[in-house]
Amino acid sequence: KTVLVTGASGFVASYVIDAFLNAGWAVKGTVRSLAKANHLIERYPDHADKLTFVQVPDLVTGEGLEDAVKGCDAVAHTASPYTFNITDPIKDLIDPAVKGTLSVLKAAKDEGIKHVVITSSFAAVTSLPDGGPWRDYTYTADDWNPATLDDVHDLPPPAVYSLSKKLAEKAAHEFAAQHGLVLSSINPPMIYGPPLQKIASRDEVNTSSAAIYALINGDEGRDVPWNRLPLFAHVADVATAHVRALEADDDKVAGKRFLICGGSFTWEDATSYLASQRPALRSRLPTLPASPDQYKDAGKPIATLDTSLAKANLGFDSFIGWEETLLSTVDALVEIEKQF
Ligand code: NDP
Repeated sequence: KTVLVTGASGFVASYVIDAFLNAGWAVKGTVRSLAKANHLIERYPDHADKLTFVQVPDLVTGEGLEDAVKGCDAVAHTASPYTFNITDPIKDLIDPAVKGTLSVLKAAKDEGIKHVVITSSFAAVTSLPDGGPWRDYTYTADDWNPATLDDVHDLPPPAVYSLSKKLAEKAAHEFAAQHGLVLSSINPPMIYGPPLQKIASRDEVNTSSAAIYALINGDEGRDVPWNRLPLFAHVADVATAHVRALEADDDKVAGKRFLICGGSFTWEDATSYLASQRPALRSRLPTLPASPDQYKDAGKPIATLDTSLAKANLGFDSFIGWEETLLSTVDALVEIEKQF
């Protein structure tokens, strides 16, 4: 069977591709420019016949998608801008997310493809505009980010990104219901893990990896970062969820939203854990408050996500925890930065 993976050059997509190949699927990846596929082709010398790429320069117009979906049995749609560096919220984030998703779904439908999984996000679930995430609250698949397009010009870029994910996911579920697609969404919070995609400079570190990189890259004596979400899923778990969503029986996945989460930690805990496990990096870490009593977030999980549906329907017993996720991500970034 062949799956089309959109946005093949991305952090999450690299793992999604890996997971599908390991599960025996052939993979067709879309990239905005074919040069971005070289790194992936080199990574899989034994999979030349099972891994191919198609250029789709702009998902909004959808040009090239008709060819891309040809011969595919299912679609894993991961491509969406995840950046806060924007000038126009509609052009830079909302349109590529929403119209891009609809272009992909329309191409799938026209080709007769029924099975689709999309990479949505906890951003589409959380109550960010209402002061969330709420610490004492368990988020479920019934929760939707309350922001609307009317708010878009008043929102800071991270909230516009969250809105883009909400609108794209809503549009996807609606399209699927209208046209009889078996579509589910994967909704993780921050996705961390060792990046596999090509990162040639500091500026190219993808947004979620940059949150971890900030622990070992920044001004000396800086405070522990607290404005980034210490609520995460390991990228390998996220990728596995995509594969299982396309392999499960239709009744287990159609119209479902799968919250995936490895738990929460605090940035103070992450900093002190790194100091103990990677002493060579101590001089690069933020400065911890003098005693754990002064930790801003001590003992406060930032929120809880109900992952029971992913456990029941996608067959997860557990998710990779924060210590392993943190250490493996930092170790990978230390290697990657040697090329900068
Ligand atoms: P990356 O920036 O690494 O990957 C984004 C991918 O989307 C790239 O392939 C990129 O292509 C493509 N893309 C971006 N903008 C456009 C556009 N306008 N048109 C077409 N393609 C575009 O981010 P991630 O891998 O982290 O994100 C992948 C998906 O996972 C996204 O849907 C994101 O919202 C979602 N997600 C990510 C989380 C995280 O913490 N990382 C958390 C929850 C969800 P190019 O390489 O050409 O720029």
